[in-house]
Amino acid sequence: MTYDPDNIFAKILRDEIPSIRVYEDEATLVFMDIMPRAPGHVLVIPKTPARNILDASPEQMATVMATVQKLGHAVTKAFDADGVTIQQFNEAAGGQEVFHLHFHVLPRHLDVGLNPPRVMGDMDELQSNAAKIQAALG
Ligand code: AMP
Repeated sequence: MTYDPDNIFAKILRDEIPSIRVYEDEATLVFMDIMPRAPGHVLVIPKTPARNILDASPEQMATVMATVQKLGHAVTKAFDADGVTIQQFNEAAGGQEVFHLHFHVLPRHLDVGLNPPRVMGDMDELQSNAAKIQAALG
C-alpha cells in the first residue's frame, strides 16, 4: 500500500480544499471533522505523508500522539467533558476511509451516545466549536 498524495487530507494540508483549522505546529495539524460524531470532534494528522500506523515512523507517531494528548486536554476543557474518546483506523478492512494517518479526538459526556455517522455538521456550529477549542488551548 502506497501513500496517495491526492488524498483529501493531503489536499487540506496544501490548502487546496477548505477546512476549519484549530491548531498546528511544525509537525502536526488539527482540524474539525466535517461529519462530527460529537460536538468538538477533531482530527489530528501529521504534516508529513503516512497512510496509517502501518507505515508511519516512530517519530511521526510520537509527534502526533503529543498533539492528540494536547487536544484531549483542550476539548475536555472547552466542552466540560467527562471523558475523551480517541479513534484511529488502519486500511479499509480496519475501517479507514481517508488514507492519511489521523486520530479522532472526541469529547464525551456520561450517558451521551455518539451522533450517527456520515452526517454533515453545521458550518457555523463547527466554527464556533473550533473557537471554543482554540480558547481552551490558550
Ligand atoms: P476514517 O478514515 O474512517 O477515520 O474516516 C475519515 C474521517 O474524515 C470521517 O470522520 C470524516 O467525517 C472525516 N472527513 C472526511 N472528509 C473530511 C473533510 N474534508 N474535512 C474534515 N473531515 C473530513
